[in-house]
Amino acid sequence: MIKVEQVYKSFGDLQVLKGIDLEVNRGEIVSVVGPSGAGKTTLLMIMGTLEKADAGRILIDNNDLSRFGEKRLADFRNRNIGFVFQFHQLLPEFTALENVMIPALIGNVRQGVAEKKAKELLTIMGLSERMEHKPSELSGGEKQRVAVARALINDPVVVFADEPSGSLDTDNKAELHSLFFELRERLNQTFVVVTHDEQLASITDRTIHMMDGRIVEKITDQKSNSNKLNNL
Ligand code: ATP
Repeated sequence: MIKVEQVYKSFGDLQVLKGIDLEVNRGEIVSVVGPSGAGKTTLLMIMGTLEKADAGRILIDNNDLSRFGEKRLADFRNRNIGFVFQFHQLLPEFTALENVMIPALIGNVRQGVAEKKAKELLTIMGLSERMEHKPSELSGGEKQRVAVARALINDPVVVFADEPSGSLDTDNKAELHSLFFELRERLNQTFVVVTHDEQLASITDRTIHMMDGRIVEKITDQKSNSNKLNNL
């Protein structure tokens, strides 16, 4: 479903990605781990089309994104790719509901349809009582769940998350991680998650280890580890 083929990226003289090959299947939850500076965020940004590779290809559902022009790429990104960042990046002047609706409205979804979908997602996130609250009136965990709902509003093919639980306390971390698995169960949602969180990495289906711009090891078949969720 997602294919990364021989991706290279440098910033000036610094070669950050040195020939990355990777495939992610629909419904998989994949973690990307490795030391600081290994290139994890850069890879995620390139897979998410927010950053351009110097060489190589990204294919999502057989669309070769390296062939897309800027406008087509922006449309594709808005419709097919969801993002969750460490700091929720919600717009402070809008309510939770409005924040979730925005990507749908940008994609020309009708107001009523966007609102219905946003309410459904916020309810799944356990936030049915918080929809009219502004970000400053929400806890850290709640804000991050709003950010996840926003990432899902356009039924993305994949959600890329960069340290999504990095700013959360232990309880909220566990809750967010459970949510990813619940969303996979309900929606067959695919997630690629960059994380320093060993607990999260240990329960994902697959962990990609990066070091110095390369994938150094792939541990496969952690599926049975999903059972560990029950112990969170
Ligand atoms: P961390 O775990 O600390 O977030 P990471 O593995 O995600 O690290 P990246 O953020 O991908 O690493 O960065 C890899 C290297 O590329 C780092 O040395 C970083 O300083 C550099 N880098 C990243 N983005 C840029 C940029 N826009 N311009 C210049 N250098 C950059």
